[in-house]
Amino acid sequence: MKLLLVLAAISVALCPIAAAQIVEKLDRQVAVTIDDLPAGMSDRLPASAITDMTSKLLATLRDQKIPVVGFVNEKKLFKLGEVDERIKALKMWLDYGFELGNHTYSHSSLNQVGLKAWEDDVIQGENVTRLLLGQHNMKLRYFRHPYLDTGRDLSTRRQAEEFLVDRGYRIAPITLDGWDWMYAGVYEDAKKRGDTALQQELVKSYLSYHDAVFAYSEKLAVQIMGYEPKQILLLHASQLEADHIGELLDVLRKRGYRFITLADALSDSAYSLPDTYVGEEGTGWLDHWVISLGKPPRGAPVFPQWVIDRSKAMQLPTGTVTPNMP
Ligand SMILES: [Zn+2]
Repeated sequence: MKLLLVLAAISVALCPIAAAQIVEKLDRQVAVTIDDLPAGMSDRLPASAITDMTSKLLATLRDQKIPVVGFVNEKKLFKLGEVDERIKALKMWLDYGFELGNHTYSHSSLNQVGLKAWEDDVIQGENVTRLLLGQHNMKLRYFRHPYLDTGRDLSTRRQAEEFLVDRGYRIAPITLDGWDWMYAGVYEDAKKRGDTALQQELVKSYLSYHDAVFAYSEKLAVQIMGYEPKQILLLHASQLEADHIGELLDVLRKRGYRFITLADALSDSAYSLPDTYVGEEGTGWLDHWVISLGKPPRGAPVFPQWVIDRSKAMQLPTGTVTPNMP
């Protein structure tokens, strides 16, 4: 790896084409995962808008042959008069060839509700998803922690993990996270008001912030383990992603990534590194690993304050820890 970096440095100095070839040789790989299905803002969207958003998002992903696992909060399906249409929107994920996982019924935080209530929420979140998967001869096999909250103490964390394994789950960690949900709320509001200038500004920032997060995460990974593992990207089901995920995928391609399944990503031995992370705040697995080594992560790109301010002003969920999502 070191030799490759030296070669890259020399090539960049000598010839831009050679540099591009080196980027190709890095063979970066990433699995895309999308949380909060059927939609992050499901409370504020009518079923028809959720269907439109889902069609648009899935068409791009299918056309570009991106394997995706979507993580479901089944509570969002149960809106009076809209249940059938909301379930149909969820079923589209499977009809388009994607996979579904469990993200708890009501998006509850293990760090907030306690182990027993949280376990009940995991179980309650299995019904519709398992039924739909069964119709496609698939099994429910992945779980993603809401807010990435994996427990405030090691005993709770391990008990929760054991519970998940006993129910047949593989935990789906994440290593790349550009807080797209924070952009998504402000974007949706701008779109509703027809403010195209703000939409453009948001998309520009969303793309450049993600690029910065990718660069930082790649570097951090090399510092921790000496190589870049197969990464796992966290995104959220939103109008922003429906409209612009294609551009985000291009950002990844420019960095030399190709798109792999979650199963493939999890085959990387990085995902069995020692991980004793506990904390009030959920975070990605690169942080888990570096903190488990006793080193605090430093130099992460700062999320644009103006987006946080706009989100706050709209009283949208904010913060890394436990945003008050529906
Ligand atoms: Zn979530």
